[in-house]
Amino acid sequence: MELAEKLEILADSAKYDVACTSSGVERAGRHGSLGSCSAAGICHSFTPDGRCVSLLKVLYSNACCYDCSYCVNRRTNDIPRATFTPRELAELTIGFYRRNYIEGLFLSSAVLGTPDRTMEAMISALRILREEYHFRGYIHAKAIPGADPLLVHQLGLLADRLSVNIELPSADSLHRLAPDKKRAAVLAPMRQIASETAQNRCELQRYHAAPQFAPAGQSTQMIIGASPESDRQILHLTESLYQKYSLKRVFFSAYLPVVQDSRLPALTTRPPLLREHRLYQADWLLRFYHFSAGELLNEDNPIFDPYLDPKCNWALLHPEYFPVEVNRASREELLRVPGIGPKSALRILRARKHQHRGLPELKRIGVVLKRAQYFITCDGYLGARGTRAEIAGALVDPKAFGVGVQQLSLDSFLPKALPDAAPALHQLTDQGMDPQKAAAELRQEAITCITRRM
Ligand code: SF4
Repeated sequence: MELAEKLEILADSAKYDVACTSSGVERAGRHGSLGSCSAAGICHSFTPDGRCVSLLKVLYSNACCYDCSYCVNRRTNDIPRATFTPRELAELTIGFYRRNYIEGLFLSSAVLGTPDRTMEAMISALRILREEYHFRGYIHAKAIPGADPLLVHQLGLLADRLSVNIELPSADSLHRLAPDKKRAAVLAPMRQIASETAQNRCELQRYHAAPQFAPAGQSTQMIIGASPESDRQILHLTESLYQKYSLKRVFFSAYLPVVQDSRLPALTTRPPLLREHRLYQADWLLRFYHFSAGELLNEDNPIFDPYLDPKCNWALLHPEYFPVEVNRASREELLRVPGIGPKSALRILRARKHQHRGLPELKRIGVVLKRAQYFITCDGYLGARGTRAEIAGALVDPKAFGVGVQQLSLDSFLPKALPDAAPALHQLTDQGMDPQKAAAELRQEAITCITRRM
């Protein structure tokens, strides 16, 4: 098979993996070497469905011996198969780098025979890149669950970031949809990577020249909407992954039906992109806003409100917390106010050392007053008074009604999903309604729903 043909197949097979992000590694170019890393990020590209992907994102092989029902590469799926040789992959990467097409490599693979065999081949390719071509660019590599710990160690010495995909939010779903995979086999390399990166940090403090092990840490990816877990279960799992394995990121991937299987949503199901978006917002709250999963969702409210971002939803459910006095509140208290983010909270804290802040100054330093004004006081004066409908109108998330945005699909797996949820925008437009009119109608309905709950 021609190399170009392999590339076409293996790049296409890799497009469902969304676990790519900025590199997080700073490494200058060096005479005699090739490439450099910028912490600001490697090249990104956008697929037609709006996902952000890095360039030269390929699988080493798509000839999988596993049969995960949700995956296009599963062994029972009749698709063209291809496998690089280590040298082909390394030369392709270098060729693309020299032509300025890419700045890094995102390398994953299907299970080629056994996890060990697959990892050995990936390691050989990365060795050629790092040791023969002296490539110093960013490499994100997937560790294959079930591989020998020694191979995971070797991969970590060659790649900047490692990731092990947890795939599904529960062991039950993994057993049902990916019978060849075991939850324990996924968690073991995560544990190993967490402990080796911590150990490596200590070594680097003592010996500056010690080899680096996965300096950009590890991440994972979870498929959303292929199995029945609620947002609450997913968020609790996310929180515990951050705490136990020091992950840099948990990526959520809205399930895109690629195969007809009775265990999975129908092929016509739209990917739950708004749900994925809500989970990313909540993930942000866990990592930068000092929220815990238990605060954002509970047994009575196990899924996110499609109309409100999780922070606004929390604020509406906790009126006892507000108003917050901006000229005296702590950073943690400020971060709970809708419309105040980490940057604006920091600016408020700095600025108020010299002078108390009023609404015009807050606006100047980046506070989104449209939302924040109903939740703050400035030296005892309320930012704004509003009717319940006005507050709901200010908080409602415009993204939920954006024309062209795919709406939350209230899948059949979630029978308790918001009983008062409005029909999705696409349903109305499919019935022939003008998209702008449909969005306006839905927005009004959303405001009514939120007002009722206030
Ligand atoms: S192991 Fe499962 S998810 Fe990974 S490529 Fe093979 S079939 Fe797909």
